[in-house]
Amino acid sequence: MYIPYGRQSIDDADIEAVVKVLKSDYLTTGPAVAAFEKKVADYVGAKYAVAVSNGTAALHVACLAAGIGEGDEVITTPITFAASANCVLYCGGTPVFADIDPDTYNISPEELESKITPQTKAIIPVHYTGQPCDMDAILEIARKHDLLVIEDGAHALGASYKGKKIGSIADMTCFSFHPVKPVTTGEGGMIVTDNEELYRKLVLYRSHGITRDKDMMQQYEEQLHQSSDPALQEAADMLRGDVIDPGGWYYQQLELGYNYRITDISCALGASQMDKLDRFLERRRQIAKKYDEAFADIPQIKTPWQQEGCQSGWHLYMIQTMERSRREVFDGLRQAGIGVNVHYIPVYRHPYYQRNGYAGVHCLNAEAFYERAISLPIFPGLTGQQQDYVIEHVIKECTAKTGRKNGG
Ligand SMILES: *Cc1c(COP(=O)(O)O)cnc(C)c1O
Repeated sequence: MYIPYGRQSIDDADIEAVVKVLKSDYLTTGPAVAAFEKKVADYVGAKYAVAVSNGTAALHVACLAAGIGEGDEVITTPITFAASANCVLYCGGTPVFADIDPDTYNISPEELESKITPQTKAIIPVHYTGQPCDMDAILEIARKHDLLVIEDGAHALGASYKGKKIGSIADMTCFSFHPVKPVTTGEGGMIVTDNEELYRKLVLYRSHGITRDKDMMQQYEEQLHQSSDPALQEAADMLRGDVIDPGGWYYQQLELGYNYRITDISCALGASQMDKLDRFLERRRQIAKKYDEAFADIPQIKTPWQQEGCQSGWHLYMIQTMERSRREVFDGLRQAGIGVNVHYIPVYRHPYYQRNGYAGVHCLNAEAFYERAISLPIFPGLTGQQQDYVIEHVIKECTAKTGRKNGG
């Protein structure tokens, strides 16, 4: 028996939805993409949604749409998957790490505010484990300093903050549909927003920076006209005819975009998965509750604290081993066939970051958390029997006599 920390749940309806697309006219850029986008937008309560090839691509195009570039700083948390910071580097910007709150493990608003400089352009809060960040405080800071807020909601599709679904709160929210995430498309991602201008840019960057949209072509042409460079004014004159009455073949590349499109095959799976999201979330909540209860009276195990008024997506269930070393507990559980994991190594500790200006960066709460953290199995298909087995072994390992101190 091997119990992973996360796993997809696929049923016959999912398989049928995919097969139907395979027999249809469109494998990509077809109706299944738009249908999936609408389903997620409606579910979270956002006006617009742009589906892309993965969650990392979602973060990248969100940063591009936000205009992040060289010299810009973007603040995020170190306790996240590297993609939450890499997306800033892709755009030539600089990620800045603000320490976590030791209770929620999410970015601390006070720490965040202390990192703001005149170069700061945006904030990427990560709803780590699915528990929403303190969005009221973050949005207030953002308003005060005129910053865009791009939520990394990879763990938090279906989670809610004070009655509002994640995806309906900030400027843009990015989701991932990797198999361990709340719903899956195999590989996939999405950005949701209420802002039409950002939406148009997201669509542009998803597909090479190319458009057939007349309004958008005209908007860029007008910008050229306003240039003080006579060559650019001449270019605008040359383009004017095409832009006013474009031929059926005509399109323009307005920005340097990417091919981050997602297939109809993937989106059909995603739309079918969305039908089950609330059931998946309910099952995740049950599993979390059972862990909470099982470990409640065991001082060697610290269970995750939950913010009032929020519903976590319970993507991860993190414990901290308070006495025995993380290494001993981790190895013991792996030997018992339990696929525990550690989410995450503080991003700045990776060699790439150390080599590129982050040597000497320390977020003390993040490091203290990291040294004790273990992710336990949590996914809709985890059986009661499997969870009992996990609980038994976690208690056994965390309370065993220790040979070495924690911190390893
Ligand atoms: C999974 C994940 C991503 C990246 O998503 P992919 O679809 O794997 O590219 C980004 N941020 C966080 C917090 C994630 O967990």
